Amino acid sequence: MSTEWQKKLRRIVLNRDNWICQYCFKKLVPQNHGATEFEQVATIDHKIPISRCSSVSNAWKLSNLCACCRQCNEGKGALSAIEWLIVLAFRRGEVRLLNELQKAA
Ligand SMILES: [Zn+2]
Repeated sequence: MSTEWQKKLRRIVLNRDNWICQYCFKKLVPQNHGATEFEQVATIDHKIPISRCSSVSNAWKLSNLCACCRQCNEGKGALSAIEWLIVLAFRRGEVRLLNELQKAA
């Protein structure tokens, strides 16, 4: 996040998403708010990671960006939004059906 257009885009996305992580619904704080809220630091995430997008311009489309806490952003890595939501659901124990299907396989 260094260029001016990226800073502008970041602000647009965070405001659109009300400074709430779109994955875990945590309230986000600005980057320089303080180290104690590290997990809540506002980032923007590429729902489809840049490395998996068909083009750089597709990667930076507003529809491919969302507000994201640093914890989710680092955990998500190169996963897609859907894949990360499944991981979070697993962690919360909300994917019993998938567990059962895996056991049956
Ligand atoms: Zn999050």
